[in-house]
Amino acid sequence: MSAHDGALREAVVSVSRRIIALGLSQGTSGNVSVRAGDGFLVTPSGIPPEELAPEHIVAMDMEGRFDHPLAPSSEWRFHRDILAARPEAGAVVHAHPTYATAFAICGREIPAVHYMIAMAGGPTIRCAPYAPYGTQALSEAALAALEGRSCCLLANHGMIATGPDLERALWLAVEVEALCRQYAVALQVGTPVVLDDAEVLRTVERFKSYGPRKADPDRSGREVPTRPGAMPR
Ligand code: 13P
Ligand code: ZN
Repeated sequence: MSAHDGALREAVVSVSRRIIALGLSQGTSGNVSVRAGDGFLVTPSGIPPEELAPEHIVAMDMEGRFDHPLAPSSEWRFHRDILAARPEAGAVVHAHPTYATAFAICGREIPAVHYMIAMAGGPTIRCAPYAPYGTQALSEAALAALEGRSCCLLANHGMIATGPDLERALWLAVEVEALCRQYAVALQVGTPVVLDDAEVLRTVERFKSYGPRKADPDRSGREVPTRPGAMPR
């Protein structure tokens, strides 16, 4: 194990434990992977995160080969296939959070009921049709539902969130569950208003510059020209 792998293994253990602590999964439900070199690291199958140690994390190549005493997650196929098909994805989090899974049980996609849907990369979070856990069919269904998106639901199962790294994949999993919770409550309160696609796509663009950044010198909230003479947009 390289020194680099050691830090990544610890990060996989930490994210696996936080998934449980955040209430996004329970018991041995869910799994985590991160790109490492030419392959990836994935949680072993059937071990509760509180019992996980860095050496339990399984290193796999993109052919699904591994040399480890523990079997990799039963969902290693979708972890491998997502990391292979999506070069921008560096990590994959799979969980069974209650609200996201409730919509998945109903086979319902999440419409643009909050601007935060933009985190998914488009105006819906799709729900992949049901396929048994651990199968190539589930991986193919997930990959199709993830087309142009960073997350999806899995019918009668749970959800998948991806990100450039482990922290951002976990962040997205938390946000997807929050959005599903808000949508579930909104359905009880009244009739949710759905934002149009153009507004979601504008928000996807705005998100590209969202995050901690230097304040505008004049506190106007206008974008500050980056070049002398450039017009604020
Ligand atoms: P593993 O313990 O094999 O990762 O399986 C958990 C799970 O969520 C299957 O979909
Ligand atoms: Zn699962």
